[in-house]
Amino acid sequence: MADAIENIKFKVQPLIPVSEALQQLLEDVKTTRQVELINLDCALHRILADQPISLVDVPPQDNSSMDGYALAFADLNVGAETILEQSIRIAAGDAPQTLKAGTVARIFTGAELPKGADTIIMQEQVSVDQAGVRLPAKVKLRQNVRPKGQDIRRGELLHPVGRKLQPADIGVLASAGINQLSVYKPLKVAILSTGDELVEPGEPLADGKIYNSNRAMLNALIQQLGMQVVDLGKVSDTLEATTAALAKAAQCADLIISTGGVSVGEEDHIKAAVDSLGQLNMWRIKLKPGKPLAYGWVDNTPIFGLPGNPASALITFCLFARPYLMKLQGGNLEKTLSFKVLADFDIVKKCTREEYLRGVYEDGQVRPFTNQSSGMLSTASKANGLIMIPADSLVAKGQRVDFIPFSQLLG
Ligand code: AMP
Ligand code: MG
Repeated sequence: MADAIENIKFKVQPLIPVSEALQQLLEDVKTTRQVELINLDCALHRILADQPISLVDVPPQDNSSMDGYALAFADLNVGAETILEQSIRIAAGDAPQTLKAGTVARIFTGAELPKGADTIIMQEQVSVDQAGVRLPAKVKLRQNVRPKGQDIRRGELLHPVGRKLQPADIGVLASAGINQLSVYKPLKVAILSTGDELVEPGEPLADGKIYNSNRAMLNALIQQLGMQVVDLGKVSDTLEATTAALAKAAQCADLIISTGGVSVGEEDHIKAAVDSLGQLNMWRIKLKPGKPLAYGWVDNTPIFGLPGNPASALITFCLFARPYLMKLQGGNLEKTLSFKVLADFDIVKKCTREEYLRGVYEDGQVRPFTNQSSGMLSTASKANGLIMIPADSLVAKGQRVDFIPFSQLLG
Protein backbone atom coordinates (compact mmCIF):
# COMPACT_ATOMS: atom_id res chain seq x y z
CA MET A 1 0.00 0.00 0.00
CA ALA A 2 2.76 2.41 0.94
CA ASP A 3 4.45 1.53 -2.34
CA ALA A 4 1.27 2.25 -4.27
CA ILE A 5 0.94 5.65 -2.57
CA GLU A 6 4.61 6.28 -3.22
CA ASN A 7 3.96 6.15 -6.95
CA ILE A 8 0.71 8.09 -7.07
CA LYS A 9 2.31 11.53 -7.18
CA PHE A 10 4.36 10.54 -10.20
CA LYS A 11 1.42 9.29 -12.24
CA VAL A 12 -0.06 12.47 -13.57
CA GLN A 13 2.98 13.98 -15.27
CA PRO A 14 2.48 14.91 -18.95
CA LEU A 15 4.68 13.27 -21.57
CA ILE A 16 7.60 15.45 -22.71
CA PRO A 17 8.38 15.49 -26.46
CA VAL A 18 11.76 13.94 -27.33
CA SER A 19 13.47 17.10 -28.63
CA GLU A 20 12.24 19.16 -25.68
CA ALA A 21 13.43 16.51 -23.22
CA LEU A 22 16.86 16.42 -24.84
CA GLN A 23 17.17 20.18 -24.78
CA GLN A 24 16.19 20.34 -21.09
CA LEU A 25 18.64 17.58 -20.25
CA LEU A 26 21.55 19.19 -22.07
CA GLU A 27 20.84 22.52 -20.39
CA ASP A 28 21.17 20.74 -17.05
CA VAL A 29 24.68 19.38 -17.70
CA LYS A 30 27.44 20.67 -15.43
CA THR A 31 30.52 19.78 -17.48
CA THR A 32 33.56 18.48 -15.58
CA ARG A 33 36.94 19.49 -16.91
CA GLN A 34 39.69 17.50 -15.24
CA VAL A 35 42.63 17.07 -17.55
CA GLU A 36 45.35 14.46 -17.94
CA LEU A 37 48.23 13.91 -20.35
CA ILE A 38 48.18 10.68 -22.33
CA ASN A 39 50.22 8.95 -24.97
CA LEU A 40 48.82 8.92 -28.50
CA ASP A 41 48.48 5.13 -28.43
CA CYS A 42 45.86 5.42 -25.66
CA ALA A 43 43.88 8.20 -27.34
CA LEU A 44 41.03 6.29 -28.98
CA HIS A 45 37.62 7.70 -27.91
CA ARG A 46 39.22 10.21 -25.56
CA ILE A 47 38.18 13.86 -25.63
CA LEU A 48 40.68 16.62 -26.34
CA ALA A 49 41.14 19.19 -23.61
CA ASP A 50 43.55 21.26 -25.69
CA GLN A 51 43.89 21.97 -29.39
CA PRO A 52 46.89 20.18 -30.86
CA ILE A 53 48.97 22.20 -33.33
CA SER A 54 51.08 20.62 -36.06
CA LEU A 55 54.81 20.76 -35.42
CA VAL A 56 55.66 20.22 -39.10
CA ASP A 57 54.43 20.52 -42.66
CA VAL A 58 52.97 17.25 -43.94
CA PRO A 59 54.64 16.23 -46.12
CA PRO A 60 57.72 18.03 -44.79
CA GLN A 61 59.09 18.55 -48.34
CA ASP A 62 57.84 18.01 -51.90
CA ASN A 63 57.85 14.29 -52.66
CA SER A 64 56.95 11.90 -55.41
CA SER A 65 53.53 10.27 -55.77
CA MET A 66 54.91 7.80 -58.38
CA ASP A 67 57.75 5.50 -59.19
CA GLY A 68 59.41 7.30 -62.10
CA TYR A 69 61.86 10.03 -63.08
CA ALA A 70 62.29 13.52 -61.62
CA LEU A 71 63.58 16.37 -63.73
CA ALA A 72 63.46 20.11 -64.36
CA PHE A 73 60.50 20.92 -66.59
CA ALA A 74 62.65 23.55 -68.34
CA ASP A 75 64.95 20.75 -69.60
CA LEU A 76 62.15 19.16 -71.68
CA ASN A 77 61.66 19.82 -75.37
CA VAL A 78 58.36 21.50 -76.16
CA GLY A 79 55.98 19.07 -77.90
CA ALA A 80 58.64 16.43 -78.63
CA GLU A 81 60.44 13.56 -76.94
CA THR A 82 63.46 14.44 -74.78
CA ILE A 83 66.41 12.19 -74.02
CA LEU A 84 68.37 12.90 -70.83
CA GLU A 85 70.95 11.03 -68.78
CA GLN A 86 70.19 9.64 -65.30
CA SER A 87 72.52 11.16 -62.70
CA ILE A 88 71.09 10.11 -59.31
CA ARG A 89 68.73 7.60 -57.71
CA ILE A 90 66.45 8.55 -54.77
CA ALA A 91 64.45 5.99 -52.79
CA ALA A 92 61.92 6.77 -50.04
CA GLY A 93 63.84 7.84 -46.94
CA ASP A 94 66.95 9.10 -48.81
CA ALA A 95 68.11 12.69 -48.28
CA PRO A 96 68.49 13.69 -51.96
CA GLN A 97 71.44 15.46 -53.55
CA THR A 98 70.75 18.38 -55.87
CA LEU A 99 69.88 17.28 -59.40
CA LYS A 100 72.39 18.42 -62.03
CA ALA A 101 70.78 20.51 -64.78
CA GLY A 102 70.05 18.53 -67.96
CA THR A 103 69.83 15.17 -66.15
CA VAL A 104 67.08 13.10 -64.53
CA ALA A 105 66.83 11.38 -61.15
CA ARG A 106 65.39 7.91 -60.81
CA ILE A 107 62.80 8.40 -58.04
CA PHE A 108 60.35 6.20 -56.11
CA THR A 109 57.00 6.82 -54.43
CA GLY A 110 57.40 8.80 -51.22
CA ALA A 111 60.96 9.87 -52.01
CA GLU A 112 61.82 13.53 -51.50
CA LEU A 113 62.09 15.62 -54.66
CA PRO A 114 65.69 16.82 -55.16
CA LYS A 115 66.52 20.49 -55.53
CA GLY A 116 66.73 21.25 -59.24
CA ALA A 117 63.72 19.04 -60.07
CA ASP A 118 60.10 20.17 -60.25
CA THR A 119 58.31 17.48 -62.28
CA ILE A 120 57.97 13.70 -62.15
CA ILE A 121 57.16 11.36 -65.03
CA MET A 122 55.81 7.94 -64.13
CA GLN A 123 58.02 5.01 -65.12
CA GLU A 124 55.36 3.51 -67.42
CA GLN A 125 55.73 6.53 -69.75
CA VAL A 126 59.51 6.34 -69.91
CA SER A 127 61.91 4.01 -71.72
CA VAL A 128 65.58 3.61 -71.10
CA ASP A 129 68.10 2.57 -73.77
CA GLN A 130 71.68 3.27 -74.73
CA ALA A 131 70.82 6.80 -75.75
CA GLY A 132 69.57 7.59 -72.25
CA VAL A 133 66.20 8.08 -70.58
CA ARG A 134 63.48 8.76 -73.17
CA LEU A 135 60.84 11.14 -71.82
CA PRO A 136 57.46 11.69 -73.47
CA ALA A 137 56.30 14.89 -75.16
CA LYS A 138 53.21 15.53 -73.09
CA VAL A 139 54.27 16.59 -69.60
CA LYS A 140 52.84 19.13 -67.17
CA LEU A 141 54.91 21.25 -64.80
CA ARG A 142 54.86 19.74 -61.25
CA GLN A 143 52.92 16.66 -62.30
CA ASN A 144 53.10 13.80 -59.78
CA VAL A 145 54.64 16.07 -57.13
CA ARG A 146 53.03 16.00 -53.69
CA PRO A 147 53.76 19.51 -52.47
CA LYS A 148 55.22 20.29 -49.07
CA GLY A 149 52.38 20.98 -46.57
CA GLN A 150 49.69 19.72 -48.96
CA ASP A 151 48.04 17.68 -46.20
CA ILE A 152 48.79 19.79 -43.11
CA ARG A 153 50.61 23.10 -42.63
CA ARG A 154 53.06 23.66 -39.81
CA GLY A 155 51.25 25.56 -37.01
CA GLU A 156 47.82 24.39 -38.22
CA LEU A 157 45.17 23.53 -35.59
CA LEU A 158 44.56 19.85 -36.03
CA HIS A 159 41.42 19.23 -33.98
CA PRO A 160 39.19 21.39 -31.80
CA VAL A 161 38.91 21.10 -28.02
CA GLY A 162 36.10 18.65 -27.27
CA ARG A 163 36.84 16.40 -30.25
CA LYS A 164 36.25 12.73 -29.50
CA LEU A 165 39.23 11.08 -31.11
CA GLN A 166 38.59 8.57 -33.88
CA PRO A 167 41.22 6.44 -35.61
CA ALA A 168 41.80 8.91 -38.49
CA ASP A 169 42.16 11.79 -35.99
CA ILE A 170 44.85 9.81 -34.21
CA GLY A 171 46.59 9.16 -37.53
CA VAL A 172 46.54 12.90 -38.28
CA LEU A 173 48.14 13.65 -34.90
CA ALA A 174 50.81 11.06 -35.56
CA SER A 175 51.56 12.45 -39.03
CA ALA A 176 52.01 15.87 -37.43
CA GLY A 177 54.60 14.47 -35.00
CA ILE A 178 52.47 14.60 -31.84
CA ASN A 179 52.76 11.80 -29.30
CA GLN A 180 51.31 13.34 -26.12
CA LEU A 181 47.87 14.81 -25.71
CA SER A 182 45.90 16.66 -23.12
CA VAL A 183 42.47 15.01 -22.69
CA TYR A 184 39.68 15.04 -20.13
CA LYS A 185 39.89 12.42 -17.39
CA PRO A 186 37.32 9.74 -18.12
CA LEU A 187 34.05 10.09 -16.27
CA LYS A 188 33.10 7.42 -13.78
CA VAL A 189 29.66 6.10 -14.61
CA ALA A 190 27.93 3.93 -12.01
CA ILE A 191 25.58 1.32 -13.41
CA LEU A 192 23.05 -0.64 -11.44
CA SER A 193 20.33 -3.05 -12.45
CA THR A 194 17.12 -3.13 -10.47
CA GLY A 195 15.03 -6.28 -10.47
CA ASP A 196 14.63 -9.32 -8.22
CA GLU A 197 14.21 -11.42 -11.36
CA LEU A 198 17.76 -10.79 -12.57
CA VAL A 199 20.54 -13.34 -12.62
CA GLU A 200 23.99 -12.72 -14.09
CA PRO A 201 25.01 -14.69 -17.18
CA GLY A 202 27.09 -17.69 -16.15
CA GLU A 203 24.88 -18.38 -13.13
CA PRO A 204 22.15 -21.04 -13.15
CA LEU A 205 18.71 -19.76 -14.10
CA ALA A 206 16.21 -20.64 -11.36
CA ASP A 207 12.44 -20.54 -11.86
CA GLY A 208 11.08 -17.02 -12.22
CA LYS A 209 14.47 -15.54 -13.15
CA ILE A 210 15.88 -14.03 -16.34
CA TYR A 211 19.40 -13.14 -17.30
CA ASN A 212 20.48 -9.54 -16.80
CA SER A 213 21.13 -8.18 -20.28
CA ASN A 214 21.17 -4.47 -19.43
CA ARG A 215 24.23 -4.58 -17.17
CA ALA A 216 26.51 -6.04 -19.84
CA MET A 217 25.01 -3.83 -22.55
CA LEU A 218 25.49 -0.63 -20.54
CA ASN A 219 28.99 -1.69 -19.64
CA ALA A 220 29.74 -1.89 -23.39
CA LEU A 221 27.93 1.36 -24.23
CA ILE A 222 29.93 3.28 -21.64
CA GLN A 223 33.23 1.71 -22.63
CA GLN A 224 32.55 2.82 -26.20
CA LEU A 225 32.40 6.38 -24.94
CA GLY A 226 35.88 6.03 -23.44
CA MET A 227 34.47 6.29 -19.89
CA GLN A 228 34.96 4.17 -16.78
CA VAL A 229 32.23 1.88 -15.53
CA VAL A 230 31.63 1.55 -11.80
CA ASP A 231 29.56 -1.61 -11.67
CA LEU A 232 27.29 -1.59 -8.64
CA GLY A 233 25.55 -4.81 -9.63
CA LYS A 234 21.97 -5.70 -8.87
CA VAL A 235 19.50 -3.87 -6.63
CA SER A 236 16.46 -5.56 -5.07
CA ASP A 237 13.01 -4.18 -5.62
CA THR A 238 12.56 -2.38 -2.30
CA LEU A 239 12.68 1.33 -1.60
CA GLU A 240 15.32 0.79 1.13
CA ALA A 241 17.68 -1.16 -1.13
CA THR A 242 17.17 1.26 -4.01
CA THR A 243 17.79 4.31 -1.82
CA ALA A 244 20.91 2.78 -0.30
CA ALA A 245 22.29 1.80 -3.73
CA LEU A 246 21.71 5.26 -5.20
CA ALA A 247 23.28 6.99 -2.20
CA LYS A 248 26.36 4.79 -2.55
CA ALA A 249 26.51 5.33 -6.33
CA ALA A 250 26.36 9.10 -5.91
CA GLN A 251 29.48 8.97 -3.76
CA CYS A 252 31.64 7.06 -6.18
CA ALA A 253 30.58 8.24 -9.64
CA ASP A 254 30.09 11.31 -11.82
CA LEU A 255 26.80 9.98 -13.14
CA ILE A 256 24.49 7.10 -12.30
CA ILE A 257 22.60 4.95 -14.74
CA SER A 258 20.04 2.49 -13.45
CA THR A 259 17.74 0.23 -15.40
CA GLY A 260 14.24 -0.87 -14.45
CA GLY A 261 12.00 0.24 -11.62
CA VAL A 262 10.90 3.49 -13.27
CA SER A 263 7.40 2.49 -14.23
CA VAL A 264 4.24 2.85 -12.16
CA GLY A 265 4.19 -0.59 -10.54
CA GLU A 266 4.46 -1.24 -6.82
CA GLU A 267 7.87 -2.79 -7.43
CA ASP A 268 9.24 0.38 -9.07
CA HIS A 269 11.25 2.47 -6.63
CA ILE A 270 13.75 4.55 -8.58
CA LYS A 271 11.63 7.68 -8.77
CA ALA A 272 10.78 7.68 -5.06
CA ALA A 273 14.41 6.97 -4.12
CA VAL A 274 15.69 9.83 -6.30
CA ASP A 275 13.00 12.10 -4.92
CA SER A 276 14.00 11.31 -1.34
CA LEU A 277 17.75 11.72 -1.93
CA GLY A 278 17.67 14.70 -4.26
CA GLN A 279 15.23 15.63 -6.96
CA LEU A 280 13.46 14.03 -9.85
CA ASN A 281 13.59 16.54 -12.72
CA MET A 282 12.05 14.57 -15.52
CA TRP A 283 9.96 11.50 -16.00
CA ARG A 284 7.95 10.14 -18.92
CA ILE A 285 8.93 11.01 -22.46
CA LYS A 286 6.65 11.07 -25.49
CA LEU A 287 8.68 8.24 -26.90
CA LYS A 288 8.16 4.64 -27.96
CA PRO A 289 9.91 2.60 -26.76
CA GLY A 290 11.22 4.31 -23.62
CA LYS A 291 8.33 6.29 -22.18
CA PRO A 292 9.21 5.85 -18.49
CA LEU A 293 12.71 7.40 -18.65
CA ALA A 294 13.53 9.22 -15.39
CA TYR A 295 16.19 11.87 -14.80
CA GLY A 296 17.22 13.75 -11.72
CA TRP A 297 19.93 14.35 -9.16
CA VAL A 298 21.08 12.34 -6.16
CA ASP A 299 23.03 14.86 -4.09
CA ASN A 300 25.29 16.41 -6.73
CA THR A 301 25.27 13.44 -9.05
CA PRO A 302 22.94 13.22 -12.04
CA ILE A 303 21.00 10.00 -12.52
CA PHE A 304 19.33 8.47 -15.53
CA GLY A 305 16.75 5.87 -14.60
CA LEU A 306 16.44 3.98 -17.85
CA PRO A 307 13.48 1.68 -18.42
CA GLY A 308 14.04 -2.00 -17.66
CA ASN A 309 12.97 -3.40 -21.01
CA PRO A 310 16.27 -3.89 -22.82
CA ALA A 311 15.30 -2.27 -26.15
CA SER A 312 13.95 0.74 -24.25
CA ALA A 313 17.12 0.90 -22.18
CA LEU A 314 19.26 0.87 -25.33
CA ILE A 315 17.24 3.48 -27.19
CA THR A 316 16.90 5.87 -24.26
CA PHE A 317 20.64 5.53 -23.62
CA CYS A 318 21.36 6.43 -27.25
CA LEU A 319 18.93 9.33 -27.45
CA PHE A 320 19.45 10.93 -24.03
CA ALA A 321 22.17 9.48 -21.80
CA ARG A 322 24.84 9.38 -24.50
CA PRO A 323 24.65 13.07 -25.52
CA TYR A 324 24.39 14.04 -21.85
CA LEU A 325 27.49 12.01 -21.01
CA MET A 326 29.39 13.45 -23.96
CA LYS A 327 28.63 17.00 -22.83
CA LEU A 328 29.39 16.15 -19.20
CA GLN A 329 32.77 14.86 -20.35
CA GLY A 330 33.52 18.10 -22.25
CA GLY A 331 32.90 16.60 -25.67
CA ASN A 332 31.44 18.53 -28.59
CA LEU A 333 28.02 17.31 -29.59
CA GLU A 334 28.07 16.51 -33.25
CA LYS A 335 24.81 16.53 -35.13
CA THR A 336 23.27 13.08 -35.34
CA LEU A 337 23.04 12.33 -39.04
CA SER A 338 19.76 10.91 -40.22
CA PHE A 339 18.90 10.03 -43.79
CA LYS A 340 15.68 10.25 -45.75
CA VAL A 341 15.09 6.78 -47.15
CA LEU A 342 12.20 4.99 -48.80
CA ALA A 343 9.80 3.18 -46.50
CA ASP A 344 9.29 -0.44 -47.47
CA PHE A 345 6.36 -0.58 -45.05
CA ASP A 346 3.10 1.08 -44.07
CA ILE A 347 1.96 2.47 -40.75
CA VAL A 348 -1.81 2.52 -40.73
CA LYS A 349 -2.39 3.28 -37.07
CA LYS A 350 -1.13 6.52 -35.54
CA CYS A 351 1.02 6.46 -32.43
CA THR A 352 0.71 9.45 -30.13
CA ARG A 353 4.39 9.16 -29.23
CA GLU A 354 7.49 9.66 -31.39
CA GLU A 355 8.48 6.18 -32.38
CA TYR A 356 11.91 4.65 -33.02
CA LEU A 357 11.60 1.39 -34.90
CA ARG A 358 14.46 -1.06 -35.09
CA GLY A 359 14.96 -1.66 -38.80
CA VAL A 360 17.22 -2.74 -41.60
CA TYR A 361 18.31 -0.34 -44.33
CA GLU A 362 19.33 -1.97 -47.57
CA ASP A 363 19.46 -0.76 -51.19
CA GLY A 364 17.83 2.58 -50.52
CA GLN A 365 14.88 1.14 -48.59
CA VAL A 366 14.21 0.56 -44.94
CA ARG A 367 12.01 -1.97 -43.26
CA PRO A 368 11.26 -2.37 -39.54
CA PHE A 369 11.13 -5.70 -37.76
CA THR A 370 7.56 -6.90 -37.43
CA ASN A 371 7.76 -7.32 -33.68
CA GLN A 372 8.87 -4.08 -32.01
CA SER A 373 8.37 -5.31 -28.45
CA SER A 374 10.53 -3.29 -26.06
CA GLY A 375 11.43 -6.53 -24.33
CA MET A 376 13.14 -7.86 -27.48
CA LEU A 377 16.80 -7.03 -27.81
CA SER A 378 17.69 -9.43 -30.63
CA THR A 379 16.10 -7.14 -33.22
CA ALA A 380 18.22 -4.23 -32.00
CA SER A 381 21.24 -6.40 -32.63
CA LYS A 382 20.06 -7.43 -36.12
CA ALA A 383 18.98 -3.88 -37.07
CA ASN A 384 21.44 -1.42 -38.59
CA GLY A 385 19.57 1.61 -37.33
CA LEU A 386 16.37 3.23 -36.14
CA ILE A 387 13.49 4.49 -38.25
CA MET A 388 12.08 7.66 -36.75
CA ILE A 389 8.33 8.13 -37.01
CA PRO A 390 7.02 11.48 -35.74
CA ALA A 391 4.17 11.40 -33.24
CA ASP A 392 0.66 11.12 -34.67
CA SER A 393 1.73 10.24 -38.20
CA LEU A 394 1.01 7.55 -40.75
CA VAL A 395 3.45 6.10 -43.27
CA ALA A 396 2.66 4.80 -46.75
CA LYS A 397 5.02 2.47 -48.56
CA GLY A 398 7.31 4.47 -50.87
CA GLN A 399 7.18 7.55 -48.67
CA ARG A 400 10.46 8.96 -47.35
CA VAL A 401 11.18 8.41 -43.67
CA ASP A 402 14.09 9.39 -41.41
CA PHE A 403 16.60 6.65 -40.71
CA ILE A 404 19.42 6.99 -38.16
CA PRO A 405 22.18 4.41 -38.57
CA PHE A 406 23.33 2.88 -35.28
CA SER A 407 26.83 4.18 -36.07
CA GLN A 408 25.41 7.65 -35.35
CA LEU A 409 24.02 6.64 -31.99
CA LEU A 410 26.79 4.55 -30.50
CA GLY A 411 30.45 5.09 -29.64
P1 AMP B 1 10.69 -2.81 -14.90
O1 AMP B 1 10.76 -1.44 -15.50
O2 AMP B 1 11.61 -2.97 -13.75
O3 AMP B 1 9.29 -3.19 -14.61
O4 AMP B 1 11.18 -3.80 -16.03
C1 AMP B 1 10.49 -3.89 -17.27
C2 AMP B 1 10.82 -5.20 -17.93
O5 AMP B 1 12.21 -5.23 -18.23
C3 AMP B 1 10.55 -6.42 -17.10
O6 AMP B 1 10.08 -7.42 -17.96
C4 AMP B 1 11.91 -6.77 -16.55
O7 AMP B 1 12.04 -8.14 -16.22
C5 AMP B 1 12.81 -6.39 -17.68
N1 AMP B 1 14.13 -6.04 -17.19
C6 AMP B 1 14.39 -5.14 -16.23
N2 AMP B 1 15.71 -5.06 -16.02
C7 AMP B 1 16.30 -5.94 -16.87
C8 AMP B 1 17.64 -6.29 -17.14
N3 AMP B 1 18.63 -5.73 -16.44
N4 AMP B 1 17.88 -7.24 -18.07
C9 AMP B 1 16.85 -7.78 -18.75
N5 AMP B 1 15.57 -7.47 -18.57
C10 AMP B 1 15.28 -6.55 -17.63
MG1 MG C 1 11.61 -4.21 -12.20
